[in-house]
Amino acid sequence: MRRPIVAGNWKMNLLVSDGLALAEACAANLGDAPDVEVVVCPPYTALHAVGAAIAETGITLGGQDCYVAESGAYTGEVSPQMLLDVGCSWTLVGHSERRQYFGETNEYLNQKLRFALASGLKVMFCVGETLEQRESGEMDEVLRAQIRVGLDGLGAADFERLVLAYEPVWAIGTGLTATPEQANEAHGFTRALVREQFGEAVSSALRIQYGGSVKPENAAELMSQEHVDGALVGGASLEADSFVAIVKAAA
Ligand code: PEP
Repeated sequence: MRRPIVAGNWKMNLLVSDGLALAEACAANLGDAPDVEVVVCPPYTALHAVGAAIAETGITLGGQDCYVAESGAYTGEVSPQMLLDVGCSWTLVGHSERRQYFGETNEYLNQKLRFALASGLKVMFCVGETLEQRESGEMDEVLRAQIRVGLDGLGAADFERLVLAYEPVWAIGTGLTATPEQANEAHGFTRALVREQFGEAVSSALRIQYGGSVKPENAAELMSQEHVDGALVGGASLEADSFVAIVKAAA
């Protein structure tokens, strides 16, 4: 039995005061949700304040990204050690917006994933195809490369601190959602790729979140699919009511 994990990716939204209000409202309305692991990923500027606000709750803190060095002359970057220092236990790596707008390749993301894990963070590693890739029949090859190259060099123990997020790029922030069947098929395919590379024990225990316009209305059906083990939520994580409803749908 894989424990569902629901994470809110706030992206480049919310000032500290708004983030605090949102985190407090989520914590107050969630109560104890021990059946679901809940993570929020505020922007860097709000991590410390939000981390303090949720310290005594069941919600844990994650970064949205990190750099591949501990410290040094890398203007504008934030290291895994810095994320840990402000209370993060998680980080996203490989979000499609990092791949798309910041040119992050599978090879670079593999370096980043390995560095983040070696530093002690848990990682939600994102994969997913664009609409063009899906329509031209390249989806399987794209996912294969993202998994093969992205997870290269990991050992079985790394998977205890790794979650995959399947996020079809065409469904992120667009209001379009993969059907539960499409999501389950892609998750099953992704799990099979992991099985080929790392074996049955690793692949059957691995949690794979779905991301792409998850809302309270579609969350339960998506997460009831065999291979869907939670959600990575963008837009709907910016309102406490919708985020809490999605967490409850996962329980
Ligand atoms: C995301 O950013 O990971 C995401 C899934 O966004 P949205 O829920 O807004 O589609």
